[in-house]
Amino acid sequence: MNEHDSETMAGMLNEKGFEPEEEKNNADIVIINTCSVRENADNRFFGTLGQLKKIKEANPEFVACVCGCMMQQQHIIDQVKSKYPWVDLVFGTHNIHQFPQLLDNVINERKKIVDVWQDGGAIVEGLPAKRLYDFKALVNIMYGCNNFCTYCIVPYTRGRERSRRPEEIIKEVKELVATGAKEITLLGQNVNSYGVSKYEDGYCASEENGMDFADLIYALNEIEGLERMKFMTSHPKDLSDKLIQAFKDCDKLCNSIHLPVQAGSDNILKRMNRKYTKADYLVLIDKLRTAVPDMAITTDLIVGFPGETEEDFMETMDLIEKVRYDSAFTFIYSIRKGTPAENYEEQVPEEVKHDRFNRLLERINEISGEINKTYEGTIQKVLVEGPSTSKKGEDTLAGRTESGKLVNFPGSEELVGQIVNVKITQGKQFNLKGIIEA
Ligand code: SAH
Ligand code: SF4
Repeated sequence: MNEHDSETMAGMLNEKGFEPEEEKNNADIVIINTCSVRENADNRFFGTLGQLKKIKEANPEFVACVCGCMMQQQHIIDQVKSKYPWVDLVFGTHNIHQFPQLLDNVINERKKIVDVWQDGGAIVEGLPAKRLYDFKALVNIMYGCNNFCTYCIVPYTRGRERSRRPEEIIKEVKELVATGAKEITLLGQNVNSYGVSKYEDGYCASEENGMDFADLIYALNEIEGLERMKFMTSHPKDLSDKLIQAFKDCDKLCNSIHLPVQAGSDNILKRMNRKYTKADYLVLIDKLRTAVPDMAITTDLIVGFPGETEEDFMETMDLIEKVRYDSAFTFIYSIRKGTPAENYEEQVPEEVKHDRFNRLLERINEISGEINKTYEGTIQKVLVEGPSTSKKGEDTLAGRTESGKLVNFPGSEELVGQIVNVKITQGKQFNLKGIIEA
């Protein structure tokens, strides 16, 4: 979500004639787009912001901007104002569309501006974006979140759920395909509730034309020239049988799903306000694998939620054995100010959290490696994303299978952006190796 917001701001700057500059000391403007999901990101923000002071002192024309989720929290704005008074522009997640105007005011009137909206307000369509890649694109289908998981700051920083009109999404995807996009990833905090949430004028896709998330997938699947569709993120409590059917019916929908489970213990899931049990989740996995046997499943896991006992943690370990995830993002619980879990007693000691995290990660990685081994000898359709970052010279290209696996293989850079057949020669823990199949 933040990455796509950054693309939008880059697009706006591009329209104003600015160009990207790798070295921040040489830049006229720096924007720090912040994330507040975990504490680590908060800490990195203040460290990075501090580094801009020297540039500002050396060059009074330099413009320092900060935006994103952290700015939606008053205590952060207060901290920026008191400790970093030289920052020129502060804005939030709800008024990104105003960024060009705010920047003009800062530059022309030489004043400092703090403008953060507390509410979601209108969805503004048609904003420019400077995409990182031509051949794959992120597409927001909705904004905000209504779920209030007790550990999570997102509903407070991104506001209530609002869905874009289906016709706007379809139009955007068609335009992207016309300019070379082969793959799109639909974005929302919980895409499964797409259409249910209201547009700013009260318009509700599912009430007016019965359009829900699965219907949107079916509609996008019709777009000629589009090759691959993915989405994130999908909340298990709202994953419908209709969407599972769409995986069978829609040839462009990739055989992969990111289905964050967070924890394996029913007690912890309840206290996280996730609204499903471990058994409910396993039923979903079973349905998905019955519908699409080679479905790659990935997840998010939190260890050390307040009150998590060793038995609770063992439920998470048991769950990963049962599901056998292709990969997982594993997080150590971090207290977020203003969330219900901030005040839960029985916070888990740091060393216990780290120990559990390490045990979990080790097993997750082993399972990933075992699954990757089963790809050996198969032929995969790979979207070539760019030159490989692998140190060993011979694997010059990197790309992704339909199931989202990273593959390194030799080939010419002209293939970037193309879909090629690759024979997998080796399944490693974090990626696959292969050779192009003629
Ligand atoms: N809307 C998405 C998640 C957005 S946040 C969803 O519901 O799946 C991405 C991930 O960050 C979450 O899935 C969760 O695993 C993690 N996360 C959120 N808040 C956290 C916290 N306070 N501490 C640790 N991890 C957290
Ligand atoms: Fe956070 Fe839960 Fe909303 Fe995801 S669904 S953004 S974890 S509150």
